[in-house]
Amino acid sequence: MKTEVIHQKGYEKVVKFRDIGSGLISYIAVHNTALGPALGGCRMWPYASHEEALADVLRLSKGMTQKNALAGLNLGGGKAVIIGNSSTGKSPALFKAFGRAVESLKGLYYTAEDVGVSAEDMRHVARETKNVAGLPEDMGGSGDPSPFTAYGVFLGLKAAANQRFGTDDLQGVKIIVTGLGHVGFELCRLLSKAGAKLIVADIDVTKVRRVQDLFGAGEAHPVEAFAKTADIFAPCALGGALNDATIPMLQVGAIAGAANNQLKDAGCGDALHKRGILYAPDYVINAGGVISIAEEISGAWDKKKALAQCGRIRRTLEAIFDRSAVLNQATNRIADRLAAERLNQGQIPRNAQDIFEGVA
Ligand code: NAD
Repeated sequence: MKTEVIHQKGYEKVVKFRDIGSGLISYIAVHNTALGPALGGCRMWPYASHEEALADVLRLSKGMTQKNALAGLNLGGGKAVIIGNSSTGKSPALFKAFGRAVESLKGLYYTAEDVGVSAEDMRHVARETKNVAGLPEDMGGSGDPSPFTAYGVFLGLKAAANQRFGTDDLQGVKIIVTGLGHVGFELCRLLSKAGAKLIVADIDVTKVRRVQDLFGAGEAHPVEAFAKTADIFAPCALGGALNDATIPMLQVGAIAGAANNQLKDAGCGDALHKRGILYAPDYVINAGGVISIAEEISGAWDKKKALAQCGRIRRTLEAIFDRSAVLNQATNRIADRLAAERLNQGQIPRNAQDIFEGVA
């Protein structure tokens, strides 16, 4: 295995790994370990260049620091990317080589699955390192984190409904869900069970049909979905959905969805605030998966306990919404500040003790 340490300002450790035998080309970025070892998934993606892969791992690992901090976890932020096509480029040897890369960091970084990588792939990683979670359930792992992410989003969406409309009863509440993949589908199931009226969109029509058939949802074109009138919009597809073009189109009272990096930039959060659209910061509301994985790392994963721990998401969002209202500032700005406070102190921020009561 060839390794190259990349010195990157603001990051604790960034390493490029190359294994000729298996074809692995991977970057692992450890952004911050002030709260504990770094945790973040491994993404497999056909990046156009090594520079693009590096930029992505840097951006994603920094996001994990904030996410883990506000999820109340004693874990830092890190991430890994593997350059390759997840449909055609996977092999046990590739993931074993990746496991050796993780192991070489000597516990500084815990990996798990992310886009393009499954719990089954983690089985091979686990042959080479103990610093892996999100393992299949037959290995004592927590399996696919998506249902936990969806449950956390569901709780966060209820918090947003309560803040914006004065009730968290979703009966008859009109909700747009874009992106009907692992998380979006499960979120639709939970919302439908709670009596919400769904409008759904995906670039994959078969996924739309499935949700329509199962939950009686209405359909929207992926672009037109932004302009539909509804109570809540739940972006569950890719990042950057909330930008200068889409924000003026929105006809909703709140945004509460799973997608990572929903805001094109922090100013888009200000624009939403100005328009009176309540935004549930993405890295706070979508932390259910990482909360479940952290339970697995702590050594005693239990489904009921992992779901109960997701309750922290709602309490954190409530604190953010309250503070946003009092200070008249965008929710994403408040979330970033709370995360920074926790990191700077390496402990629970004094003025937000209530939201971190679950911290071990
Ligand atoms: P997924 O790949 O299973 O699903 C994504 C879905 O979005 C697919 O059905 C795809 O067809 C659809 N899509 C892509 N582009 C679209 C567009 N322009 N308009 C409408 N639909 C589009 O992914 P997932 O695991 O469900 O994750 C969804 C989002 O949530 C991602 O942004 C992911 O980073 C984030 N997230 C996921 C988890 C998790 O546990 N899976 C945790 C945290 C955050």
